[in-house]
Amino acid sequence: MLIDSFERRVNYLRVSVTERCNFRCQYCMPEKPFSWVPQEDVLTFEEMFTFIKLSIDHGVDKIRLTGGEPLLRADLDKFIKMICDYAPNIDLAMTTNAYLLKGHAQKLKDAGLKRINVSIDSLIPEVAHKIASKNVLKNVLEGVNEALSVGLKVKVNMVPMKGINDNEIIPILEYCRDRKMSIRFIEYMENAHAVIDIKGMKSSELLEVIKSKYSFKDLGLEDSSPSHYYELDDGYKFGIIEPYEDDFCKSCNRIRMTAEGDLIPCLYFDEAMSIKDSIKRDDINGALSVLKEVVKQKPEKNRWSEDDGESSKRAFYETGG
Ligand code: SAM
Ligand code: SF4
Repeated sequence: MLIDSFERRVNYLRVSVTERCNFRCQYCMPEKPFSWVPQEDVLTFEEMFTFIKLSIDHGVDKIRLTGGEPLLRADLDKFIKMICDYAPNIDLAMTTNAYLLKGHAQKLKDAGLKRINVSIDSLIPEVAHKIASKNVLKNVLEGVNEALSVGLKVKVNMVPMKGINDNEIIPILEYCRDRKMSIRFIEYMENAHAVIDIKGMKSSELLEVIKSKYSFKDLGLEDSSPSHYYELDDGYKFGIIEPYEDDFCKSCNRIRMTAEGDLIPCLYFDEAMSIKDSIKRDDINGALSVLKEVVKQKPEKNRWSEDDGESSKRAFYETGG
């Protein structure tokens, strides 16, 4: 079992399978060129799988594939099948922008994937275009429909931003509720790679907007989930991810791996240790000591709530959000 220095059990591995993306979201990587990490620096799926097996053997029972955009990577379904065949009870999910989901959802489901999170920041084509720097909405919504029709469970992530999509909080909540998908609003996390003048909405501001139409009760933080949950009178639950709140990190159970094999103890900080050399040499003990050290190095808290004006330098497209 992996336990960090603050007695938190680490059982959740988030794997960024690529840092490439077909979108250029304003809050994530507005200006990156399409391809910047040489392909030979990226771990193969076999190499990632070697590390995933090691993590599972040491207590990881929850894995999320993310990126960049995971659907850009060829043979993702084969990778999913490798993981599910090794650990049939693993809680395996994927976060995607859904642009390439149409035509692939069934293949992913057949490989063993059960759940996906899809990022939808707007239901207005021009606004979605502005946020992603590309005309994306039609493909995304078709992808979501296909995922639902093949029986994948879908959760939606939205990052509300003032003056951009803050008038769509209720429409997106209703879009999700009508399709029995849960929604999580993610507070914009300041970072050095985003467009400079983005103003995110804090949870209290989001709740004010929702309160203008619905009443709800506060369900509190869910065990080891970063979401604070609320329930509308009709029983529909929505979540808010509040990294600026003091207790956000209290039950953090995760570490992250980049496509190049860096293990990251915390989304906020730059610190990382590489498992790449050990994995390439098939040195499982070496990879295990890096894993244990990274777990040990998990900090108690992120610094988003510190008021010293510093932004995180960590790129979300590398760490997988
Ligand atoms: N490309 C996929 C997608 O967009 O869903 C997966 C990777 S993306 C980095 C994972 C999640 O991080 C998305 O839901 C995205 O909205 C969120 N994200 C990225 N940058 C963010 C930021 N600065 N603040 C809050 N959420 C962010
Ligand atoms: Fe790509 Fe996801 Fe980042 Fe948007 S949030 S640029 S879709 S990785």
